[in-house]
Amino acid sequence: MTTNIRTRFAPSPTGYMHIGNLRTALYEYLLARSGGGKFLLRIEDTDVERYVEGATEVIYNTLKVAGIQHDEGPDVGGPFGPYVQSRRRESYAKYAEELVDKGGAYMCFCSKERLDSLKEHDPHAKYDRACLALTTEEARARRDQGEGCVIRQLIPDGETTFRDEIFGDITVAHTELEDQVLLKADGYPTYNFANVVDDHLMQISHVVRGSEYLSSAAKYTLLYHAFGWDVPVYIHLPPVMGSSGKKLSKRLGDSSFEDLLREGFLPEAIVNYIALLGWSPGGEREIYSLGELEEIFGTQGLSKSPSIFDKVKLTWMNSEYFKNMDEQKFFVMAEPYLKDAVKRPGADLRLLAGMCRPRIEFLTDITKLLGFIDELPSYDIALFEHKKMKTTASNALENLRKVLPRLEAVALWDLAGIRAELEDFIKGEGLKNGQVFWPIRTALSGKESSPCGAPELAELLGREESLRRIRHGIELLEQS
Ligand code: GLU
Repeated sequence: MTTNIRTRFAPSPTGYMHIGNLRTALYEYLLARSGGGKFLLRIEDTDVERYVEGATEVIYNTLKVAGIQHDEGPDVGGPFGPYVQSRRRESYAKYAEELVDKGGAYMCFCSKERLDSLKEHDPHAKYDRACLALTTEEARARRDQGEGCVIRQLIPDGETTFRDEIFGDITVAHTELEDQVLLKADGYPTYNFANVVDDHLMQISHVVRGSEYLSSAAKYTLLYHAFGWDVPVYIHLPPVMGSSGKKLSKRLGDSSFEDLLREGFLPEAIVNYIALLGWSPGGEREIYSLGELEEIFGTQGLSKSPSIFDKVKLTWMNSEYFKNMDEQKFFVMAEPYLKDAVKRPGADLRLLAGMCRPRIEFLTDITKLLGFIDELPSYDIALFEHKKMKTTASNALENLRKVLPRLEAVALWDLAGIRAELEDFIKGEGLKNGQVFWPIRTALSGKESSPCGAPELAELLGREESLRRIRHGIELLEQS
């Protein structure tokens, strides 16, 4: 299905990607994809003072890693980049001029000193419209003679009502608005102006952005009306709050997308998590691939209330993504960690990867999980005691003493051989499984939990090392 849905992500290059911004990009992307439309990327870099070197690359890479691919760019047909506002300067000046002719804007020659003096008594004082007294001809003549000027929006009397998909109809009295600058003296547009011109030129049908822009939507709507252009559908998203109870912010120590990647979160898990941060497909299910989200996303699931970024939940999702990951993909990711954790020659890294996969939240957990393989950690003999397994220090000692010669006699040291021997021993002694498996598992790992049970551990460690560790366990228990 092809529709005329066209959305855009319009970040300002600030040097990092807020989670809130990434969510905006994702929703714009999903909205376009779910309706068979197009998703555009536009870098809003007209605020020269705020420009941060390399920031555009951060945006670009973030979207790439997240799998949010834009559809169109200045060089459609070949490798294309995003639209970049600073490269589109001429068109804003042309449209500002058109707006002057249409009566929606006027030239202003007021000096900085004069404007400052207006705010001397009241810092919130609005521009007093002194230059509105000039006719357009007079103003253009002054400008032609080289006098610097800005172009301001002319806010008419009355009020404006616009509709937001999430917040409904909103009416703003024009007395609350000001004749703001649209085009600066250096020919650069302000964000407010460039945004509207570009959304029109790029035929954007749905504008998704943070609710902090809700208060500006009335003046944008007035600009569309003054030009005689269609107003896009507005979708203003409620903020994402951090653990501090305030809106997520780098300044408050909240993680950016790049930070989360560095912390070990998978891009797929982050994308899945933020998709559900303010939108719900309904039902209990929580794990969705990007492809699935592209199918089911719709504005009706968007929430009106702020959402809370919950790292615990994201951590759970990360572990789910490891569990469900393709085996080979996981192995490639895990290999450096496995090699770091286990240096003994001949270790079966694929087997170890399979053991770790369902048990980790982060790849770094592999090191912790397998840390006992090369070297038995020193451990407390209290670990031998386990109520549910019905093991105590004394029956652990007794059972380890008895099972040791049986294990020493195992002919073929592999999983089946070890397991058969242990089961036979348990049966013969009339014991519970846990009373033998638990003390062996403890002696072999020296840890409260291990990525596999006693027979697997014994196979993994090999005959000599396993028997050595069991003897060591017996000694520890004897000394207590
Ligand atoms: N450049 C604005 C920002 O980064 C975009 C807002 C919008 O989407 O219109 O917040």
